[in-house]
Amino acid sequence: MRNLDEPHQALSEREQAATDPALSELYEVVRRTWGFETLRPMQEAAVRCALDGRDALVVLPTGGGKSLCYQAPALVREGLTLVVSPLISLMLDQVRGLEACGVSAGMLTSVQDEAERRTVERALWERRLDLLYVAPEKLMTPGFLSFIERQGLSGLAVDEAHCISHWGHDFRPEYRQLGELKQLRPDLPIQAFTATATPEVRADIAQQLGLVDPEIIVGAFDRPELTYRVRPRGELVTQVMEVVERNARRAGIVYCLRRADAEVLARKLASKGVRCLPYHAGLDAAERRRTQAAFDNEELDVVCATVAFGMGIDRSDVRFIVHASLPKGIEAYVQETGRAGRDGLAAECLLLYSGADYHGWKHLVERSALEGDRELADPDALDHALERLDAVWRYATGATCRHRYLARFFGQEDVWRAANPEDRCGVCDVCLGEIEVAEESQVIAQKILSCVVRCSQRFGAGHIVDVLRGSESQKLRQYGHEELSTFGLMKEHSAREVRSFIDQLVGLGCLGVAPGRYPTLHLTQDGVAAMKAELPVTLHVPPAVRSRKRERARVPDLDGLTPDPELFERLRTTRRDLARERGVPPYVIFNDRTLAEMAARKPATPAEFLELKGVGEKKAADLGPIFLAALAAYGGDTEASPPSEPSTAEASEAGA
Ligand code: ADP
Ligand code: ZN
Repeated sequence: MRNLDEPHQALSEREQAATDPALSELYEVVRRTWGFETLRPMQEAAVRCALDGRDALVVLPTGGGKSLCYQAPALVREGLTLVVSPLISLMLDQVRGLEACGVSAGMLTSVQDEAERRTVERALWERRLDLLYVAPEKLMTPGFLSFIERQGLSGLAVDEAHCISHWGHDFRPEYRQLGELKQLRPDLPIQAFTATATPEVRADIAQQLGLVDPEIIVGAFDRPELTYRVRPRGELVTQVMEVVERNARRAGIVYCLRRADAEVLARKLASKGVRCLPYHAGLDAAERRRTQAAFDNEELDVVCATVAFGMGIDRSDVRFIVHASLPKGIEAYVQETGRAGRDGLAAECLLLYSGADYHGWKHLVERSALEGDRELADPDALDHALERLDAVWRYATGATCRHRYLARFFGQEDVWRAANPEDRCGVCDVCLGEIEVAEESQVIAQKILSCVVRCSQRFGAGHIVDVLRGSESQKLRQYGHEELSTFGLMKEHSAREVRSFIDQLVGLGCLGVAPGRYPTLHLTQDGVAAMKAELPVTLHVPPAVRSRKRERARVPDLDGLTPDPELFERLRTTRRDLARERGVPPYVIFNDRTLAEMAARKPATPAEFLELKGVGEKKAADLGPIFLAALAAYGGDTEASPPSEPSTAEASEAGA
């Protein structure tokens, strides 16, 4: 595996590009079409493979720029590139986005009407399309592939490729058939893309698709623009409102476990004046579509959703993601939080959890395995599901830097360390000092662990809390536990604190919880080591539900540029009006990154406008005049307004 994210590499690759004619042609196409001056290092590695006709597995985080990896080569290469994608809404977004940039692209799905289908088929016959999006089941229908082949097929891209793997978190049986493609067309280069894959899933994808000597390209998973925080769940509405208020009138998603939770929360937020609606699989399709469209069109700010709300979201200016309960694994968490900040600007993620979430998931996973859930039929798969749950529990209850933990999970701790030499990210609750490490963590751990041992490893957390806090309960006396040497050993801590320490020890893998109706605690091997102080343990003081220090939203940093906030809002309005007029979602016009740059640089001429990142020739011609007019009008307004009061510094200087 190559590490393609080394600093300064972009420059040298650009120099190389100048000497490679195919690559410099591609750079030119990217500049003209999308208005990007450079490719990101992994993007360049991926397009090189495509240009060389090699198979590749590209693992890039959400927002990493996967689409360009197959779209750009498709424009340079002769013939048609076929793109397999799991969701129709996703395809539609991509096709619209491409058309807005002047690329000829189409899609074939099972829900199109006859006329639409014919238009696309005609374009195929006339060989006018560079990119065709299809659903996997469509691709494998008899005759379809040979039909496409006659239209000059030259490459295949498989999006969300982890859907092919049992080990992944989103297995889709339709994807399995894609394995036949290599047998049908051994010479066809395949690019597989995924955002979340551990090394095992990666290997499985390559094997299932039958990739031949694939180049495995893994980008840096860390998303430094995301601030991560974790809190025990308390007064949910208050906790969510704190984030919503910090990001007033900005887009956000609150993920809830159950449909009913999403409904109730959405109602409560709406009653506080938040433009908010629920979204879950229990709503009928039309209502779901309306909500999704309202969110995309910026008529809604917040969606309270179950995980059913996901893949179709292409709004790149999502500023916050709150999880109202523990997600089922780190991969799911990273994928869900990955929907924030896709424009590269700062965004925040808050995870709210409780011990009950953990047990609820565990119960659910075990029960589905018992009931013969197809995905968990294999006993290894059950273990895997439980390991996934443990990993996210450790994330929630642990006290290590969140970014570092996630990087480690994806096997990228070294990459992360190279970028964060002080072992701190600076943008998570741990590094920001918002969570407090417990003094004498080791001693606390030892007290709890030895208490579990003294209670013969036959009691649950509630009982252990009572013993350690020296409670006068009947049950304690019944077992003679007031005689134990650990009785009253942690009197100075509150019950909530002791309970949280126990949860954390479970999370760290020092304590195990027996399955079933009586979740008794026992020591694991790590627990024994921790009790002997052979394994260092760090615990954190459970934060108050409402934090004392008020957290501040991060000011988006744009390579040193500071957008004029008022102008930025005006440009958003221009974009929203234009989007409505044209019947497309606002992000198809420009994303927030481009608008923010516009509000900072204030271009005044078409040439200056074309220099903005995200502005290609088509958009410059099509949208430039409208936005330049808005910019000029704003300039006129502000110049006309009276000069502001001199600042105190200026005043005192004048007086001196
Ligand atoms: P993914 O599919 O990996 O989630 P996208 O393809 O949607 O990511 O790209 C994420 C964002 O990054 C988009 O807003 C896109 O315009 C931007 N982007 C992609 N490639 C580049 C590049 N080379 N330079 C600047 N911005 C880019
Ligand atoms: Zn950190």
